Amino acid sequence: MSEKELSDVRADLQERYNQFKARGLKLNMARGKPETEQLQLSMGMLDALNSASDLYASTGDDCRNYGMPYGLPEMRELFSHMMGVDASNIIAGGNSSLNMMFDTVSCGVTHGFSGCLPWGRQGAVKFLCPSPGYDRHFAVTEYFGFELITVPMLPTGPDMDVVEKLVSNDELVKGIWCVPKYSNPTGITYSDETVRRFAALKPAAKDFRIFWDNAYCVHDLTDTPDQLLNLWLECKKNGTEDLPVFFVSTSKISFPGAGVAALGASDNNLAVLKKHFSYETIGPDKLNQLRHLYFFKDYDGILEQMKKHRKLLAPKFKAVANKLESELGGKGVACWTNPNGGYFISVDVLNGCAKRVVSLCKEAGVTLTNAGATFPYGKDPNDSNIRVAPTYPPVDELEVAMDLFCICVQLAAAEKLLNK
Ligand code: PMP
Repeated sequence: MSEKELSDVRADLQERYNQFKARGLKLNMARGKPETEQLQLSMGMLDALNSASDLYASTGDDCRNYGMPYGLPEMRELFSHMMGVDASNIIAGGNSSLNMMFDTVSCGVTHGFSGCLPWGRQGAVKFLCPSPGYDRHFAVTEYFGFELITVPMLPTGPDMDVVEKLVSNDELVKGIWCVPKYSNPTGITYSDETVRRFAALKPAAKDFRIFWDNAYCVHDLTDTPDQLLNLWLECKKNGTEDLPVFFVSTSKISFPGAGVAALGASDNNLAVLKKHFSYETIGPDKLNQLRHLYFFKDYDGILEQMKKHRKLLAPKFKAVANKLESELGGKGVACWTNPNGGYFISVDVLNGCAKRVVSLCKEAGVTLTNAGATFPYGKDPNDSNIRVAPTYPPVDELEVAMDLFCICVQLAAAEKLLNK
């Protein structure tokens, strides 16, 4: 386009933007929260447990009382299907997997793994952060004072050439954050080769750990769901089962904040973690675990629930994809992911434009995840990545919000090209 043409386009976009602004919208696409209708799908859970229910576990333990610090055997069995880890290597815990990740990092910092000095006493320790990634992961290790190292995310997962190099050369690299299926925010699933390379890692640090957060393990949205290779089994083949620690929760299956979380790990790692947890809590909320068991019954029950979620969520993802394609397709101002599941779509706008897009949207009443949030320290070196969370607004609102978003992406691009 000539400068004149570009100027005209910008004027037109500005006009459309002003019209949006005048509408006084108040929409939120910032965090991956389910909408009310999706929460309604789990309401039966609140009736599944009452004073007439059998409140004894298969072990004979009374779930109303202390005991069973690693959770109900039935719950660990259910998680075993979700996590692909032996039930005996799983702890069914409280309401939050992020909490269990925080505790695991905390345990490494104060007490250490594999008989090594605690991470907190080894100097300037580092953690690998595949980016774009999950801001709360990065925040945990930032909080504990790790140096955060950005690793590029590829369509196959973290760039394993970079991971292998960093891990095998530097004893101060202690771990890596991974969301292996329907990654937050790109929605990609790690390839078989990536998983095999993780299982075959030869870290310089004996106490290096892979934080394998499979938060979206059953969150399929299409008839052709992604398949993730089982890291636990691959590690067993390689004799590297001390490398990973697995996490999962039902937050995005039942109720966020009132679900059940789990951690899976090798016998060696569990010995360390169980000791740590034994000082921290007398045991988890087993009544909530019972409630989940009575409602879902088994793994098939979970998959049935996810089919119902899909009915609500798939149209939302489609609405976003359609808008991106129809408004931005072929214009060279953005590229985006089209995931088969999970909770997010990742959009890359022109370098230097993400912050501007987010603030334009905000001024016109649409809140997005802060630009930069998907990178360590909240700083996207290219200022180009934006996480779109389509799960909360209803489809009609989502379409309006995406219309505005697409105008803002183009307006920011026009401003950049006109050097304003
Ligand atoms: N991991 C990932 C990748 C997430 O996206 C989220 C929630 N958005 C969580 C963990 C938090 O899970 P929980 O509620 O179990 O703490």
